[in-house]
Order: sequence, then C-alpha cells, then structure tokens
Amino acid sequence: MDAEATGTEERIPRNFITEIIDHDLEAGTVSKVVTRFPPEPNGYLHIGHAKSICLNFGLARDYHGECNLRLDDTNPVKESMEYVRAIERDVNWLGFSWSGEVRHSSDYFEILYGYAVELIRKGLAYVDELSPEQIREYRGSFSEPGRNSPYRDRSVEENLALFEKMRSGDFGEGKACLRARIDMASPFICMRDPVLYRVRFSSHEQTGDRWCIYPMYDFTHCISDSLEGITHSICTLEFQDNRRLYDWVLDNISIPHHSHQYEMSRLNLEYSITSKRKLTQLVEQGVVDGWDDPRLTTIAGLRRRGYTPRSIREFCRRIGVTKQENNVEMEALETCIREDLNDHAPRAMAVLRPVRLIIDNYGAEGVTLTELRVPNHPEHPEMGERTITFGRELFIDESDFREAANKQYKRLVLGKEVRLRHAFVIRAVSCEKDAQGRVVAVHAEAIPGSVGATLEGHKPKGVIHWVNAADCLRTEVRLLGRLFKVPNPGAEDDFMSTVDPASLEVVEGAALEHGLAAARPLDSFQFEREGYFCVDSRYSKEGRPVFNLTVALRDSKKAAAA
Ligand code: ATP
Ligand code: MG
Repeated sequence: MDAEATGTEERIPRNFITEIIDHDLEAGTVSKVVTRFPPEPNGYLHIGHAKSICLNFGLARDYHGECNLRLDDTNPVKESMEYVRAIERDVNWLGFSWSGEVRHSSDYFEILYGYAVELIRKGLAYVDELSPEQIREYRGSFSEPGRNSPYRDRSVEENLALFEKMRSGDFGEGKACLRARIDMASPFICMRDPVLYRVRFSSHEQTGDRWCIYPMYDFTHCISDSLEGITHSICTLEFQDNRRLYDWVLDNISIPHHSHQYEMSRLNLEYSITSKRKLTQLVEQGVVDGWDDPRLTTIAGLRRRGYTPRSIREFCRRIGVTKQENNVEMEALETCIREDLNDHAPRAMAVLRPVRLIIDNYGAEGVTLTELRVPNHPEHPEMGERTITFGRELFIDESDFREAANKQYKRLVLGKEVRLRHAFVIRAVSCEKDAQGRVVAVHAEAIPGSVGATLEGHKPKGVIHWVNAADCLRTEVRLLGRLFKVPNPGAEDDFMSTVDPASLEVVEGAALEHGLAAARPLDSFQFEREGYFCVDSRYSKEGRPVFNLTVALRDSKKAAAA
C-alpha cells in the first residue's frame, strides 16, 4: 500500500476488526492480511463507500497486506463502464491503490459455473421451473415456513442437463433458475433454497454475450473472496444472516481457501442519501446536476464541492468502526473539511453582493495607494504573498454598510470608521440610493497613513473586505446548502419531496480580487469572512472560474448557540 499517499500518521484507530486481525496474526491462522473493496458498478461511490474504502485499504496499509479492488459485476442490466471508470477514479483520488489489476466477479464466471455443477452433482442444487412470483410465494415468511418446489427432487442427471440448457439459452428469462437445495423451513429466509443462477439475455460490459445465465450475488461473493484469498471479508450488518449461506456454499464445494466475513454498521450520514438506487433516481430525473452535483455526498460530488481526500479520510477515521447502528451528523463531515481548508486554503477577498465604495479623497496626500503585497495565509508565511490593487472605486458587500446601526454592528456606518482589510481606515460620509431606496454607492474618506498602522483617534472595531472595481473578476458564485430539508430523507415515504429547492442559490456578478481569474478547477480558497470556496469543474471557463461554496467559516450549530 501507498503509505505516502495517505500519510503514515493515518493509522486506523483500534476497533473490533483490528482486534480480530491481531488475534489471527498472533494465532498464526493468518500470515498476511488480504482485504478487498467490492462495489457493484451500478452507480457512483458515495460517502458510505468511503468508510469501507478507508477501512479495507487502510487495514492493508497498516498491516503491510494487500487490498483488491473487485467490481462485483453480476447484474449486467444495471451496470456500465461509466460506473467502472468512476469507481476506479474515486478510489485513486481518495489516495488508495489496489493490489495488481482491477478484478471482476465476471473473471470467475467459468469457475463459478464449475462450482454450481459440483453442487448439482452432490445433490445440493437443482433447476427450478417455478416462476419468480411462485418462488416468492413458496418461500414463506418470517412467521411461516416455506414449501418445497415440485422440481426440488429432480435427479442429478436431469439437473445437469437442464443447467446446461440454461447456459445454452434454451430457457427464457424467468423460465428456469438454479437453486441451492438447503432447507425450506430454515428460520433464515436466505437459507430457503436461495437462487444461485438466473437467466438474463443481457450483454455484459466485460463478458459481452458469452453468458445468458448470471450467478447471484450471494453465490458469487463468497466464492470470489475465497478465490482471491481474502482473509478478512468486511461488509455491512445487513449481510449478517447471509454469512450462513456463504459458509454453506464454501463448505460444500472443493475450494481450498475459505474467507471469513465480518460485519460492521453502515455509515448513515444526516441530510444525505447513501443508496445507489435513490441516487440514480435523483440523477435520472434531473433533480441534481449529475452524479457529481456538489450537493450530493457522492465522492465525485464531494470532490466537486471542494472536499479533499485528506478530509474524507479524516472523517472516516473519526467515525470509527463498530457494530452499533448510528446516524452521523453532517457537521462531523463539515468540520473535517473546514479544519483542512483552514490550514491549507489560501485566503482571498471576494465580494458576493457588491456595492460601490468611492474613496472621495483618493489621490490626496497619503491616499495614493495603488498596489499592496499581502500574505496568502495568516499563519503560513511559506504559502507566500500576492499583489492586490487599490483604487478610487472599490466594491464592498451590501451587508457591510448601513446608514445607521447599533454598537453590535461592527462594519461601515455613515459617519463612522471601519478598516478595509489590509488597507486604510475609512469613514463613510454619504450614500447614493436607487429609486427603490437600495444603496448603490457609498462615499468615504480614507485616513491618510492608516495602511498597516494604528493611528491615535482612528481605532475602528471592524474590518471589512473589498475588491478594486477597476480590475476585479466578475463571476458566478454558487451558494450550496444541504440538498434535503430533513435529516433522514431516506426514511421518508417520498424522499424526492424532501429535496430543498433553496439548496442552490446562484449569485451572478460577484466581485472577486483579480488574481482569482487564474484559479483552476478544484482550487480552493478561503474568501475572507465568507467561507471556503472551490472552483467548479463544469461551469468554469479559462479566465472566468465559477466558484462553489464548500462550507461556511463556522459550524452553524455552534454559531447559533454562541
Ligand atoms: P447500495 O445499497 O446503495 O447499492 P451497496 O452496499 O449495495 O449499496 P456496493 O457497491 O455493493 O453497494 O458496496 C460496496 C461495498 O461498500 C460493500 O462492501 C458495502 O458493504 C460497502 N458500503 C456500501 N454502503 C456503505 C455504507 N453506507 N457504509 C459502509 N459501507 C458501505
Ligand atoms: Mg450491493
């Protein structure tokens, strides 16, 4: 594993899985840890997957083992190469690299078929010709045992011949399937003769039209893990019952290695959806701007929003690995990116809702400033300096000026003083309004000699940001909020109705310091006093970046409590 990419300080904190591994290593039942991340390529990866990625690749890194990337591609109907590429990209972007080539469950189709035949030969699988509806009906329920299919007691020879016929395309979809012959009365529904193979006349992104029968997830997954010598096969708690089936399959075929499965709780993050089916709905119905909409907690969406791989890994480290179901607050994720950007993002000035500020005494003695050098980060001199320009006409934010205000308001007020960040102390003398009474320009006087100096009698409480009207960049800034109005949209009957239309506000004509014109997609900045912003990778043009709000400067909950 690439220790450098993720930093050696990023060891996984101890959890119940590291304890199992330590025990296995000590007992000698395992000599090298081998894990895997096994997504189905039927959608983009999301923050829940990040938890699994950080754990599986992180374990391989910490224990000097290996982690495979395996695409669990057993359902060609819903899978595509677009998803495959996106998965590879996102795993790499998070800072991880897999052992060897990317693997596919479909690489094992021939071997899987062989094991299915082995089960038939042992009288442990049969071809069923009940319809999918009948199979469901015969399965029973939690309170009622299932019933045997009338096809359950076919001879081995008959089953072999029929399974062969399934493979050669002689059965239509839903007309036949291969089922394990276990126990229709089992208290575990997954053990009631689960389907192992079904007919699908569908082209597969890896195997083309070679197959018209496809193995089911439960049959494929445990065998693929074992073929790859996975020592610790980690999944989420919903698959706890299925472990019985995996063990049954592995115990009844002649496979040399037997992988063990361990279950952890899944990540549920407030205000976000981590179901690919629901994410697909949002994308396909155009409710969001693609899988990488910056309001989505897909990895691609978080990247476009300005999250860094480091911040996502830190988040996964903090939430830990347990068996307790829980909901993680969105603030926990936001805190991670805020801390990261506070440390690493260069500062810049950006006026989101510009109002003209005219320095009436500009050009007078002591008020001739045209350029100044300012640090890119207040605590990191190694991040360098930049030049910003000053002139007679500036822009300030409309929220930073009032004609009259009480003492709590530490910005610009008529007749009062405020400091322009990095520049003069100014005093507002008058303002101009439009027909609706909106302030369109403020006139002020600069205090000569007040740049970088504290003068007796001129000690304003507030500092406001500004840009030079003559050369600033006018562009679009997208203020993004949370996509959903409720903390747990997934629990709603109609989660689509909880989408918040106010989650995107497009601010046109924001005024940004001119140097930002050179910013590239995915560059991040702290717009002083506003928040952290990142250059959008879709709407930006050369010389005219469009910015997305990544996160506000302060935690909204803490700010409200303060
Ligand atoms: P979905 O239900 O959205 O399709 P999935 O679990 O079926 O999600 P996979 O592509 O099969 O998606 O998941 C790949 C791996 O990621 C699995 O090992 C799964 O356990 C893990 N994973 C998926 N979602 C989460 C989550 N919310 N928290 C932790 N791990 C997850
Ligand atoms: Mg799945």
